[in-house]
Amino acid sequence: MTSLLWFRRDLRLDDNPALAAALAGGDRVVPVYIQAPSEEAPWEPGAASRWWLHGSLASLDASLRQRGNRLWILRDDSLLALRRVIAATGATQVHWNRLYDPATTERDTRIKQALRADGLRVESHKAALLFEPWEIANTQGQPYRVFSAFWRACVKSLALVQPIPAPETLPAGPVPEWTLALDDLELLPRLHWDQGMRDTWTPGEATALALVRSFLETRIAAYGEDRDRPDRPGTSRLSPHLHFGEISPRRLLSLIREQVGDPTADPAEPYARELGWREFSHHLLYHFPQTATAPLDKRFADFPWAENGVEDRLAAWQQGRTGIPLVDAGMRELWHGGWMHNRVRMVVASLLTKNLRIPWQAGARWFWDTLVDADLASNTQGWQWTAGCGADAAPYFRVFNPVRQGERFDPEGRYVRRWCPELARLPDKYLQQPWTAPQAILSAAGVRLGHDYPRPIVDLAASRAQALAAWERIKGLDQTPNQA
Ligand SMILES: Cc1cc2nc3c(=O)[nH]c(=O)nc-3n(C[C@H](O)[C@H](O)[C@H](O)COP(=O)(O)OP(=O)(O)OC[C@H]3O[C@@H](n4cnc5c(N)ncnc54)[C@H](O)[C@@H]3O)c2cc1C
Repeated sequence: MTSLLWFRRDLRLDDNPALAAALAGGDRVVPVYIQAPSEEAPWEPGAASRWWLHGSLASLDASLRQRGNRLWILRDDSLLALRRVIAATGATQVHWNRLYDPATTERDTRIKQALRADGLRVESHKAALLFEPWEIANTQGQPYRVFSAFWRACVKSLALVQPIPAPETLPAGPVPEWTLALDDLELLPRLHWDQGMRDTWTPGEATALALVRSFLETRIAAYGEDRDRPDRPGTSRLSPHLHFGEISPRRLLSLIREQVGDPTADPAEPYARELGWREFSHHLLYHFPQTATAPLDKRFADFPWAENGVEDRLAAWQQGRTGIPLVDAGMRELWHGGWMHNRVRMVVASLLTKNLRIPWQAGARWFWDTLVDADLASNTQGWQWTAGCGADAAPYFRVFNPVRQGERFDPEGRYVRRWCPELARLPDKYLQQPWTAPQAILSAAGVRLGHDYPRPIVDLAASRAQALAAWERIKGLDQTPNQA
């Protein structure tokens, strides 16, 4: 009996429930990857994600080959491609791991019905999350909209979670010549702008596991303190590995238990809680699918966004030349390696949506194309939270001040100096706000504002006041959550 295993964003052999089920149900497993980006529209993978995907598929294929199998790569409408493989192999069952974003959910439901109507056994499995978005509900059976209550409910069931080990062998059959080579998918950029990402990352399951082990050995104990410091290597940098499913959250949790202890107690708790935010993001997007483009808080549909100079200001923000060092450092870090520290993501998102009053959707789109960890659930949640229109957001009037944030979380200026080297010689006192430095100090540091480094594109205090005035205009409106 042959089982078809459809890989999507679960690019691993360890703790892969669809793989385990395919193996249990057949003496031959056909692992398939299908490129069909238009089925994810309007959220086809962006350029940085495609770069990651190439590396991740290469790594998966290598692991399959080590076990006597290999990846069948196709590019087509997914249902047509699956039917073609089924016809070629005589597979009687199809397994995949569930995804939860709106377009994929709709597509998968349609495919499941069609293949079942063809007479196949078709099963989807839980693998990407600790909890299915519908498994956690409040006492009225409704989705949570407050993180702390959601996480409390999750914590009660964390003990039940057990990962499945990777198989030692994976019996295969002959592979037809009409399958594609990985390069045929043309995921890598033609213009070779990816040097920064190549210097920064190695996609794949083996790297993900090694990264977890070293994070748990050396950094998790200080994570609670260091996680907000972009100038320190304080976080796990696992987000792209988690997004592409190179490591499962259940494996991560079980390694935390083995190497550190109870994930709900110190020192592991602050880290496990962040995995909770990932779960919460999926919970929200599943229950409020329209929020990928529309604010959860309906009042923000009428928010008076800025009307003048938006294109130029958006371009300055994207290119890391706003004249506000912490923001520019973050945007340059993103452009270089496809990743940005979480604290800085909040700061740059706050500047865009509050000080510049540019709609959060424009920032979310830019992140979508440039982040290697671009994830519809987490990106949507992160942007809506910072813009003040999402679930459990801080009160609108808490506008991040990028100067104070820099002074607090990059106190010696290591992060800003790394990404804005033209400011490196400025004394700490002026590094986060060079426009306040006396001319003599700027000259001594070799900085000519407006030449070597931009003057700020926005007055932080005045724009904050304007944002608060804009908020006053909508805050009295109906705030029922935006329902599909
Ligand atoms: C505006 C904005 C956009 C964001 N877009 C994304 C995105 O597209 N993809 C993405 O994975 N994360 C996104 N985040 C969340 C967060 O910034 C990243 O997950 C984190 O920076 C990844 O670094 P890390 O792996 O070192 O995190 P760690 O601090 O080591 O955390 C471990 C894991 O927990 C999860 N996590 C941590 N913080 C959050 C959070 N706030 N929300 C959801 N999950 C979280 C991630 O999977 C992360 O890998 C966004 C945050 C903001 C403010």
